[in-house]
Amino acid sequence: MSEFNMEDHPHRRYNPLTGEWVLVSPHRAKRPWQGQVEKVSEEKRPEHDPECYLCPGNDRIGGEKNPNYDETYVFTNDFAALNLDAPKGGVNEDDLFRAESEQGICRVICFSPRHDLTIPQMEVAVVKKVVDLWQEQYAELGSREEINYVQIFENKGSVMGCSNPHPHGQIWAQSSVPDEPAKESLRLKAYYDKHGKTLLEDYLAKELDKQERILVENEHFVALVPYWATWPFESMIISKRAIQHLGQMNEEEKEAFAAIYRDLTIRYDNLFEISFPYSAGIHQAPTDGEEHPEWHLHMHFYPPLLRSATVKKFMVGYEMLGNPQRDITPETSAERLRRLPKKHYKG
Ligand SMILES: [Zn+2]
Ligand SMILES: [Zn+2]
Repeated sequence: MSEFNMEDHPHRRYNPLTGEWVLVSPHRAKRPWQGQVEKVSEEKRPEHDPECYLCPGNDRIGGEKNPNYDETYVFTNDFAALNLDAPKGGVNEDDLFRAESEQGICRVICFSPRHDLTIPQMEVAVVKKVVDLWQEQYAELGSREEINYVQIFENKGSVMGCSNPHPHGQIWAQSSVPDEPAKESLRLKAYYDKHGKTLLEDYLAKELDKQERILVENEHFVALVPYWATWPFESMIISKRAIQHLGQMNEEEKEAFAAIYRDLTIRYDNLFEISFPYSAGIHQAPTDGEEHPEWHLHMHFYPPLLRSATVKKFMVGYEMLGNPQRDITPETSAERLRRLPKKHYKG
């Protein structure tokens, strides 16, 4: 038997943020691929679409009218998954039938009045306005008694179930900490208590030493493919300083955050020369009034595409019942993304 190496042999990798494992099967990535790899022609969108409920001056489904905004615009979701009206209460029958009422606020953020642009096609100064708004919203929503966690996220592309191409994101702020950040919170705390530094501070330093999975770096942020990535082209943006939440970000850091968000998504668009779909979101400290020295702000990007603009990865079978699994290694993905031009393919 030859010696174990991660480029050739099936193995499991551990995600220290969640405590979960991913099965990596690099030998399978060597199979010849016979599926379709055709290029997708993209429809050209107008700068303003009279049918779009997010464009300036248009009517929304709920009957409200958008103002003629010229930068970013935020409003409370007309069909919110959460609201502040739910009375406090719960059910617990024999530890088997449990429910708790949940209070929250859901908002939509339009990144730009331009219907035809996406983050990678905007100027850094325009993307910075989005980061400014995230920071304001985190402060405002997080300061409310009922709100203990502010989840900022973006769903991009119809393949991710996003029904409107207008550049926008969402914020769901709620009274409980949802499962993903709650899992991370536990492990970040255990690591911080043991090492006196944040888990991501130490992880990032090692990744910068190794230079195997780094995609883009600027003065304040790094974008990389995490060692434990499950989606083929998954990535993370991590702050170099152990910033706990958006509220601690200074002007220079906000600009650097905007720049790396744009730089990373340019690479993504260049990969298959399409507007690259993903779900992305920021994990940061809960707004529960406690100190959170263990927290370290980061942004996850989970893109569903596997081999081309049309071939999507499915999380099915073993992945639903066992663990997530991937063929192409995170190092190979990182190398492919890193080799792409820094300039957007649309010029
Ligand atoms: Zn629009
Ligand atoms: Zn996270």
